[in-house]
Amino acid sequence: MARKVKMLDEITINQIAAGEVIQGPYSVIKELVENAIDAHATKIFVEIKNGGKSYIRITDNGMGIDPEDIEMVFERHSTSKINEIEDLDSLNTLGFRGEALASIASVSQIEVTSKTKGKDTGISLELSGGEILSKKEVSATQGTTIIIRNLFFNTPARRKFMKSVKAETTKINEVITRLAISKSDISFRYVNNNNLMFTTPGDNNLSKVLLSIFPKDLYQNMIYLPPTEEIPYKISGFISQPMYGRGNRNLEIFFVNNRLVKSQSLSKALEKAYENKLMIHRFPICVLNIEVPPGEIDVNIHPSKTEVKFYEEKKVENFLMDRITEVLTKGTKIVHPNIQQ
Ligand code: ADP
Ligand code: MG
Repeated sequence: MARKVKMLDEITINQIAAGEVIQGPYSVIKELVENAIDAHATKIFVEIKNGGKSYIRITDNGMGIDPEDIEMVFERHSTSKINEIEDLDSLNTLGFRGEALASIASVSQIEVTSKTKGKDTGISLELSGGEILSKKEVSATQGTTIIIRNLFFNTPARRKFMKSVKAETTKINEVITRLAISKSDISFRYVNNNNLMFTTPGDNNLSKVLLSIFPKDLYQNMIYLPPTEEIPYKISGFISQPMYGRGNRNLEIFFVNNRLVKSQSLSKALEKAYENKLMIHRFPICVLNIEVPPGEIDVNIHPSKTEVKFYEEKKVENFLMDRITEVLTKGTKIVHPNIQQ
């Protein structure tokens, strides 16, 4: 006999969607920091405890959330960033799907406090498993603080899939590092179990960001690529000196239009340029931002928004490969202009 067909309730729908958007504590951090970036914050403070499993706090000094909107932002498909699908062709925010907060809220306990510019008081909302527990007016400074406790507390199967504190912390370190690098105009401060891990100055100097985060000898082996006015793409950042390789691909860091992405095609182009320059099983290091006209990429491939599709993939690959090959053959170390060595 056929089973009765019914609509799933909102929280169940969000929990299912959370499976794609929220892979673990590191994805919560990625989504919340991206929201802070989209809110034009100039300071972002990230604090975690126990690999983010029990506690994550993100504070920003961005535009804040209006008291009238504070409940709606936790609903699925609620966003202030786009109105229609065509807006994706000129997207200048990291978010657009309107599902991160709804997904996170459905599988954790949340406390959010926010105040917008010009208002005397802020608003604070508490939720558990997607249900609102309380809403009150509070005194607050401009911006948003969001605390996530006990991720996956109500989805035991997902909770079991989280790795050890150490492994989850490693993934969080990686994502925060990359986000801090992607926005050198924002000051990041990252605290793990009450230990300060790093702060970045936020004065738009990528060299200083790298020096705040990476060991000095690594930085000293990087070649600076100043932004060029090349058409149609602009590539800028740092690449490692030939012969200075690593045992894995973890530091092949790419941004497309300042969005942190994973891209096999960019990695492939990079490694091609280093072919015969590195020993076998060694990989280059790079921190590269590639600017592409927004209409030439699709960022809506996966709910986690970490993959992009280039409409002209080969062209981008060749462009990247040629630019790196050119810099490597010149062999000169170009020092960032704004930093004394
Ligand atoms: P998206 O980022 O795709 O719009 P989210 O679920 O991540 O979806 O956020 C929903 C909405 O909540 C955002 O569109 C934004 O209006 C608001 N919001 C979320 N975080 C912040 C923040 N830190 N500061 C200001 N507004 C925020
Ligand atoms: Mg978002």
